[in-house]
Amino acid sequence: MQTQRLRIAIQKKGRLSTECKDLLKRCGVKFNLIGERLVVHCENMPIDLLLVRDDDIPGLIMDGVVDLGFIGENELEEVGLERAARNEPSNYTMLRRLDFGGCRLSIAIDKDEAYNGPQDLQGKRIATTYPQLVKRYMSEQGVTFSTCMLNGSVEVAPRAGLADAICDLVSTGATLEANGLKEVEVILQSKAVLIQRSGDFSADKQALIERLLTRMQGVIQAKESKYIMLHAPTECLEQVTALLPGAEDPTVLPLSHDKSRVAVHLVSSENLFWETMEQLKALGASSILVLPIEKMME
Ligand code: ATP
Ligand code: MG
Repeated sequence: MQTQRLRIAIQKKGRLSTECKDLLKRCGVKFNLIGERLVVHCENMPIDLLLVRDDDIPGLIMDGVVDLGFIGENELEEVGLERAARNEPSNYTMLRRLDFGGCRLSIAIDKDEAYNGPQDLQGKRIATTYPQLVKRYMSEQGVTFSTCMLNGSVEVAPRAGLADAICDLVSTGATLEANGLKEVEVILQSKAVLIQRSGDFSADKQALIERLLTRMQGVIQAKESKYIMLHAPTECLEQVTALLPGAEDPTVLPLSHDKSRVAVHLVSSENLFWETMEQLKALGASSILVLPIEKMME
């Protein structure tokens, strides 16, 4: 069921939701989220946003019901394995990995228990929301185990006597610590990704996807880059540019009154650290400005 408008699935509420909406807005997609609507029509582009639970996004893509989706790799892989086991289609195209939603899927056990490796999990019961990923990891390790499927509060399972260990998402580790657990194995590193359904796209849709991807690249690159401006003694120009990250081709401008100094402008691929600014200052540089960049296109 192909629609004229490009359908993009995003998480309605949760850890990926704000960043996905921000990214789309920065790409110039205009939309107004009011009430509890499932489908939101964008005002300035032929795009419909589908606001759903993240669990549903991989399936919507794999069934070809939506065109693009933002999803955590953990969820994507779990659903993919689950569907493959049921002989349901599980294909998709990875368009790009994003710079948010970072976490890891880890096995954790009671902090006072000894641990020498995966073989210590032999015969244990592991509470998790990701049984397929745990199964894949454990069979790679040649360890047999049983699961306890929980969709929430996984971290309390050992204390509640429901399981011997857990396998859950971790970012800082604070939740594990608060529950008297220690992380013993990382089974997957995950980030948010943008995926596309398989199959054909109309020429218009394909062009729109490419435009969005170019803009996304510009937004992500801009976030990592800085515009740097400073004044430097002409004689130190080489030493000054050598200190600036990514300064292969800076713009050098004369100053109207001081002929012994020049203005240097450049786009740097990284932030400028205080230490570097202090070194620049020591070389005689002044008026050093580091500015954020909103958008860029090469
Ligand atoms: P939904 O109601 O949409 O099903 P959820 O409760 O399943 O939401 P969230 O907790 O919002 O999911 O997490 C969504 C995704 O965010 C995770 O699948 C993961 O990819 C990512 N994520 C990043 N950091 C963390 C973290 N510390 N804990 C859990 N998920 C994280
Ligand atoms: Mg979910």
